Order: sequence, then structure tokens, then C-alpha cells
Amino acid sequence: MPVKVRITLLFTLLVVGILAVVCGSVYYFYYTGRVDDITTRLTNRAITTGRLLRQRGVFDEALIRKIDSSTSVAMREKAVAVYDSLDRRIYSYRDVGAEDLKIERAVVEKTKKTFSGPIYFTRGRRDAIALNYNEGKEGYADYVIIAAAYDETGNEKMRDLRMVLVLSFLGGIVISIVGGILFSVSLLRPIRRIADEVNEISARNLARRIRSSGDDVKDEWYYLSGTLNQLLNRLQESFEIQGRFIANASHELSTPLTSISSQLEVSLQRMRTVEEYRSVIQSVYQDTRQMSKLTQTLLEFARASGTAAGLEIDLIRIDEVLLRLPGEIVKADRSFSVTLDFDALPEMEESLLVFGNEELLFTAIRNVVSNGCKYSDDHHAVVRLTVRGGEVVIEVEDRGRGIAVEERESIFQPFYRTEDGHSVPGFGLGLSLTRRILQLHKGSIGVDSVVGEGSVFVIRLPMAGG
Ligand code: ADP
Repeated sequence: MPVKVRITLLFTLLVVGILAVVCGSVYYFYYTGRVDDITTRLTNRAITTGRLLRQRGVFDEALIRKIDSSTSVAMREKAVAVYDSLDRRIYSYRDVGAEDLKIERAVVEKTKKTFSGPIYFTRGRRDAIALNYNEGKEGYADYVIIAAAYDETGNEKMRDLRMVLVLSFLGGIVISIVGGILFSVSLLRPIRRIADEVNEISARNLARRIRSSGDDVKDEWYYLSGTLNQLLNRLQESFEIQGRFIANASHELSTPLTSISSQLEVSLQRMRTVEEYRSVIQSVYQDTRQMSKLTQTLLEFARASGTAAGLEIDLIRIDEVLLRLPGEIVKADRSFSVTLDFDALPEMEESLLVFGNEELLFTAIRNVVSNGCKYSDDHHAVVRLTVRGGEVVIEVEDRGRGIAVEERESIFQPFYRTEDGHSVPGFGLGLSLTRRILQLHKGSIGVDSVVGEGSVFVIRLPMAGG
């Protein structure tokens, strides 16, 4: 069922429910009020008749009838019947044209046993009461007096009230349906508008944002459009990063490719000496090695760009990963060296366990360590391993050129290289790949550096048992 219909229905049901309770209560209280009123009036009448009958010697029956006939005009079709203790009808009166009261014996018997007040009942359209009349003698009935009358004014008022209530109830239903429709339309209009605006946004116009209803009304719709706009910001940012990444990657690949093709083209123009061919092949070999390194890094990037769900995760001892570093770093460049400092390690080996993909973590740490060697004159890095506050902390320190404050965040962006870093071969992908891998492992990387003195890269990984 559409939300609009549901809201309308709910609203209508709510209003109808409230109306029904209000109308029902008004009717009920008015009805009980009228019954109380007619009961009191009929009881008074019965008591008067009872008193007069007790003094039969003074008032004769004709006089009593006269008094019975001269009551208010609002009470019509009056009838009075009096029974003595032997259930004999000793007196009866009825208005001209009024029906006689047919009273069952059971009613008389029941009334005789009731001392708490009159019993109310109806006879046709007439209201009636049965009163146990005694003058102070407990548990004894002098007479049982039945008085009945048609409460014309009261019933007319009831009829009018019924009419008013039914009309207001029906009117209320119509108003609540119309109100429900208007209410649901106005409630859902912002959603529709937001949905329409979101529909118009595609990859081509990602810079577009959803307009909020008005800055002064900070309602849920404002919050929703704000949240969607934030999502669009993130999407746009990642689209742009991706775009830049592809442009940079293509550029890095096209440079050696252009160099290869132009070298081959020039050397094919005429016959060359063996030496010349060797030198061209050597140069092409260098270019293809560079391309192969780049594609390798790009593949690693693609691997680390997914979610951790697709990765093979194991319990890894981080000191064992670090122990592989010296051998691997030397393979990259024979002048590179690494010192491992495990002095501050705790006794418990379990604190060195982390959950992760060993190869990816090794790649991440190796990138930082090889940078330490690459960007320092002594080509040396110190790797320190400690455990602090549920985290495994790896510090990679070098005595290199250092990194300026304003560049400390940018170096983690793909393809970013500092101005003085250009003298050293590289693509600017190592640190961004490292950060990506660490994010996959719920870890982090930061840098502290003094320009001209050196840098300390700090890698944090959550302990497996932490
Ligand atoms: P690459 O080393 O291939 O250029 P990275 O992403 O590893 O790419 O590093 C990005 C940039 O950060 C480098 O170009 C370099 O300028 C700077 N950098 C990284 N590590 C260091 C370091 N230990 N000392 C000084 N500069 C560094």
C-alpha cells in the first residue's frame, strides 16, 4: 500500500476514533442525565401518591387522581399503579388516552425486596419506576408504587442531540479524509522533491546538490538532504580521485611507451652497429622494467582497493614480517640497509599478533622502509617495534632530507611526489598504497619529520587480542 494512502488511512482512523469516543461519551452522559432526571421526577410523583394514599381518610381517591393528572406538561401519558403488601392493585391512574400499565407480578415482588431506591425500567416508549414505599419501617413495604410517563421534552432533546452527533461524526469523517490527504501530501512532498533531485544527478553532473527546504527549518528533510549531499560530496571526491588516478597512471605508462617506440623508430631508420643496437635494447629494457614495476604497483593498488572481505586474513606475528625486511630491501638496492630494533618488546608473544594479510602488510611496511633508505644519504633506516595501548606500533626512522609540514598529508595521495623527491626514481604510489592497506587492516600511518634531519613514519595496527 502506498505510504500516502497509509498515512491518510491512519490519520482518518485516528480522527474517527477520537470523534467516536467523544460523540459516544456525550451521548452516554446526556442519556444517563435524562434517565436520572425522569427517575427523580417519577419518584417524587410516586412518593406524593404514596403519602396521599396513606391518609386516605383525609384525601379521597378522586382528589388523588386530580393531583396525579395535574403534573408538568413535559410528562405525557402518565400512569400510576399502587399495590399493597398482598400484591393487590389498590390504586391506579392514567392520563386520558394513555395505555394502562401492565405490571408483572415479578416486578412487584422484586420491588418489595428493594430498599435502596426506585427501580428504573421502560414500558414501550414510556419511562417507568417501581418504588418500595414505606414510612420508616425497614424491611417492609407499605406499597409498591409504579409510576410511568413519556418524557416528551427529554426524548426530543435526545433526538436532536443524536442528529447533531451523527452529523458531526459524518462531517468529521469527511474532514479527516480530506485533512489526511492534504496532510500526507504535504508530509511527503519534500521526499518526492528530494527523490526527483537525486534522480537528476548522474556521474555527469555529480557537482549538483540537493536544495534544502530552507535554512531556518532544521527538520528531518533538511537532515536527509544534508546527509545525501554529504554522500554526493564523498562520491564526487572519489570520482575525482579515481579520474586523477587514471590520468596519472596513463601518463606514467605512456612516458616509457613513447620513449620505447621513438627509440625503436629511430634505430630502424637505418642499419646500426651492434653496439648501437645493444644500447637501444638496454634503454628499452630499462623502460619496460619501469613499466612492469608500475603495473605491479597498480595491481597491488587494485587488490588493496577492495574491501577486507575478499582478502585472505590470518593471524600474523608482526616481528616475523619485519624480519623479512633486511633481505628484501637489499634486493631492491644493494646500498640499502635496515636495522631492526626489538629492544622494547614485551615478554608476551601474543601481543605481537595481528589479524591481516601477510603479503599486503609486508608490502605496506616495505614501502615505508625503502623510502627511508631511498630518501636519505646514508640509505639506512631503523625499524622499531613496540606495543602500546592495545596497538602494535612500528616506527621507521631515517636521517634523510625530511618532509615539509605542508606536504605531510599530500605525500599519502596517489602519484604525489615532493619537489626534491624527483631526483629519486619512483611513481608516488608507495605511501598511498601503504595507507590503503593499513586502512583495510583498521590501522593507520602518520609521519613526524624535521626538514634536513630526518623523518619518523609511525604505523599502528590493532593487536589481535586487543
Ligand atoms: P615514491 O617514493 O615512489 O615517490 P611514495 O608514495 O612512497 O612514492 O612517496 C611519496 C613522496 O613522499 C616521495 O616522492 C617523497 O618525496 C616523499 N617521501 C616519502 N618518504 C620519504 C622519506 N622517508 N623522507 C623524505 N621524503 C619522503
